[in-house]
Amino acid sequence: MKNAVTGAIREALQVTAVFIAVALAFTMVSVLTSDIHFKIGIFRPLSAIPPHLAALAGVGLAVGIVACLFSMRFSLKLILLSIVLTLLFDLDHLPSAVGIAQPIRPAHSLLFLGIVILAELVILRKPLGTAALIGAAFLGHIATDSGVFPLLYPFSLHYFQLGSTYPWLYLAAFVLAAMAGVLTRFPPRLLNFSNR
Ligand SMILES: [Zn+2]
Repeated sequence: MKNAVTGAIREALQVTAVFIAVALAFTMVSVLTSDIHFKIGIFRPLSAIPPHLAALAGVGLAVGIVACLFSMRFSLKLILLSIVLTLLFDLDHLPSAVGIAQPIRPAHSLLFLGIVILAELVILRKPLGTAALIGAAFLGHIATDSGVFPLLYPFSLHYFQLGSTYPWLYLAAFVLAAMAGVLTRFPPRLLNFSNR
């Protein structure tokens, strides 16, 4: 039991470490390469941060529970990962937190999502279930955020606006979470390049 808990925490930490490295690198590149007019990201008021983080953690927990339900067993790794990953998409706010002008939410983009999933699959040889879970965390995060997102960054600098809550985004997050659960329970044998 203790070994299982330690293993789940260790595996979650590995995935988290790669996610953080890719998020920070992606954010740094976005700051260094963006046109000055695109550098308009500002930090939200400090008082608004704890409730927002709590909402994101709650969505992450819900994503993890759905993944567990569809994997038909409790998985501490799935729960931990879905909470932490849902929160970590906001690492891209770091430059503005320390007063550096930056593009708004560069990691809230499909390219970042693709790169971070690829990094987990290639560097850590994670299974497709982890890829689906990262996708679910991304959708859950976007659904919980409000404001503007450069979804097609850097190919388009258009900011997409989310002004309120869109239930279909949560639904899409939970569908991906369910897929993550099924893929964790029944890993596809054709794609036998993963180590778990
Ligand atoms: Zn965010």
